[in-house]
Amino acid sequence: MATATPVRTAARPQIRQTQLFIGGQWVPARSGKTFVTINPATEEPIADVAEGDAADVEAAVRAAREAFDNGPWPRMDARARGRLIHRLCDLIEAEIDELAALESLDNGKPVNDSRLIDIPLAVQCLRYYAGWADKIHGSTIPIDGNYLCYTRREPVGVAGQIIPWNVPILMVAWKWGPALAAGCTIVMKPAEQTPLTCLRLARLAQKAGIPDGVINVVPGYGPTAGASIVKHPGIDKVAFTGSGETAQIIMRQASDTLKRLTFELGGKSPNIVFADADMAAAAAGAHVGIYLNPGQCCCAGSRLFVEDSIHDAFVERVVESSRKRRVGDPFDPATEQGPQVDKAQFDKIMGYIEAGKREGARCAVGGGRVGARGYFIEPTVFTHVEDGMAIAREEIFGPVLSVLRFSDVDDLIRRANATSFGLAAAVWTRDVARAHDVARRLRAGTVWVNCYDVFDAAAPFGGFKQSGFGRELGERGLDPYLESKTVTVSLDPPRGR
Ligand code: NAP
Ligand code: MG
Repeated sequence: MATATPVRTAARPQIRQTQLFIGGQWVPARSGKTFVTINPATEEPIADVAEGDAADVEAAVRAAREAFDNGPWPRMDARARGRLIHRLCDLIEAEIDELAALESLDNGKPVNDSRLIDIPLAVQCLRYYAGWADKIHGSTIPIDGNYLCYTRREPVGVAGQIIPWNVPILMVAWKWGPALAAGCTIVMKPAEQTPLTCLRLARLAQKAGIPDGVINVVPGYGPTAGASIVKHPGIDKVAFTGSGETAQIIMRQASDTLKRLTFELGGKSPNIVFADADMAAAAAGAHVGIYLNPGQCCCAGSRLFVEDSIHDAFVERVVESSRKRRVGDPFDPATEQGPQVDKAQFDKIMGYIEAGKREGARCAVGGGRVGARGYFIEPTVFTHVEDGMAIAREEIFGPVLSVLRFSDVDDLIRRANATSFGLAAAVWTRDVARAHDVARRLRAGTVWVNCYDVFDAAAPFGGFKQSGFGRELGERGLDPYLESKTVTVSLDPPRGR
């Protein structure tokens, strides 16, 4: 059984920013209210953070509008914009240890994950888009008649950005990178569970020389601060990552002002292992696919389809590695898995584990809480899962794997696609033709072949079906932050007077 190592409280980064960041100023909420962010490893409070609401969003939008309509940011040389984004990255790298500790304190993820995965990916993303800043341009178009017709790509305006708690620093980078490169200004709301690193990054952006008002951060709750961003007529576009339920609310509320929307939502991603796969690699992929960031990944490989002939032997490998996974103190360098982010998520996941047992699936390993303090859950594998069970259909967002058997490929594809989600998928096989065939037939925005969770800032990411719309990362990730303007010029010489 997974055991909890005692959680140390010594590794405490300094909490420097807890107020709202509006127009380059650190200010309390107009209401004077604060909310508490907790350490999910100890259930203890970390800090009181200013709780923004409609009045604060109003001020933030005013600052972002002014910075967009009259400020230097969209007007400066594009290359200079790119340099400032690079400078922000230099500052992030200079205090990577402090930032990693802050991320792990607030979110609970192992400090090694913050330091070696999340922050390097965030920097990669910001630098990637810094490089785009001076490469965004239109084209000339050969229309009929004596005209010069060309397009310009212009920033969409003020971007409202609402992010979740699972990878806070990385989500900031995914949102700020393309928006800043395009010349937009920003009003961001971090998740209530994890506001601290977003605020720290705002401070670093200011230190880097990004002009005041370009980035505004308003921590607070979704239905107040978040909804105010969605409804505000001064915001041109909303980028949201989170749950489908919240996305539905946002879509309805954004309709009044016809805002542009991009959504990156959940998944129930199929991870498919054929009998000819490299067993060790596939088992490692199944492990990381479900347990990374203890399942709190939109692209978690939570449905493991295993070909009949290898099912038992393969499951044994996955169960064995689950049993050995080290769960505990995020600040212990040996820890592989920290707590879930909060009590609500912990309770939701434990509810799914109960539902799995009730519906007749077999819990092959895990299924329980780890320790008595903190929101730690054992790596959990269910076998004998049927497609109709809740644990096979719904996003659990926790370290809970559902194993399904298959024998026929056509039937497998049908089952893998029989979900309202379509974010990611993976296939493990040595047969090249089959790998590409299955990749083509899976209805998902990302398909990994003989790998899992390979992210790169240059590779677009996003969902088919109810996993969202629009793409983040890569060149595609710029599109939602750009308008296209067509300019048509008559080339007829001026006639007489
Ligand atoms: P959520 O409600 O979708 O939260 C995501 C963000 O949206 C947070 O900043 C949240 O603020 C904000 N928000 C909530 N209601 C809003 C509204 N009416 N208008 C505008 N913004 C609003 O997700 P959650 O409650 O944290 O997690 C629930 C489930 O969502 C998870 O179990 C998981 O299945 C899924 N999820 C998916 C992702 C992903 O990466 N795709 C990430 C997180 C969660 P608050 O901080 O106040 O909630
Ligand atoms: Mg927290």
